[in-house]
Amino acid sequence: MIFIELIVYIILLFSIIFFFYLLLYKSYGLSTSKITTPEQALVHLIEGNKKYNSFWNFITRANRKSVATVQKPFAIVLSCSDSRVPTEIIFNQMNLGSLFIIRNAGNVVDGVVLGSIEYGISELKALLVIVLGHERCGAVTTTIDAILEHRPESSGHIKDIINAISPAAHNVLQQHIGQVTISDQLKESIVKQAVKENVRLIIQDLSEYSDIVADAVQKKTIKVVGAYYDLDDGDVKIIT
Ligand SMILES: [Zn+2]
Repeated sequence: MIFIELIVYIILLFSIIFFFYLLLYKSYGLSTSKITTPEQALVHLIEGNKKYNSFWNFITRANRKSVATVQKPFAIVLSCSDSRVPTEIIFNQMNLGSLFIIRNAGNVVDGVVLGSIEYGISELKALLVIVLGHERCGAVTTTIDAILEHRPESSGHIKDIINAISPAAHNVLQQHIGQVTISDQLKESIVKQAVKENVRLIIQDLSEYSDIVADAVQKKTIKVVGAYYDLDDGDVKIIT
């Protein structure tokens, strides 16, 4: 009888703790779907930082102190800016200091990206470079659309992204020359192939345009791999 009462009290205690956790932690601030103004967006982020830095977040506080003066990330990730592909979350690497991450629309490579990867290899001694493409990538889709619709060059700098992804898109579209119509299903397949081709070409570019990457690969101090993230099932598959 005492044992059952004890169990009931424990369940009650955990329910109260969970309730306060939800009240203080999860329900704090706006849901992102309710953010409609720049001011609300800023307030939401500042509130997020307060939660991150709160008394209750003691694990992160200890983690932050442990890496405050030195970092030694074990991997470098080049991935897309897409909000559905948050790198630390999908690799379950929530500890500060684990990953050295470079993100841009379409996970493309330019001089700054190469320099960042070289810094991660030569200064931070990371062990792995992973280039991560993902399902339904907007940057790749925009590039495919621009080619198929023979659009004039976009204004601003979006054209820089399209130019960077175009070689991969052309490689895939060449396989469909003569196709009278491109259905939505075929288009989705083309985008998927182009995302993977883009990752493959980037992997080639890393060693071709960076001696630091090429040397590290040759000395086997680093491994470079390409991967694909599935938005639906959450799987990351190594593709090259
Ligand atoms: Zn993307």
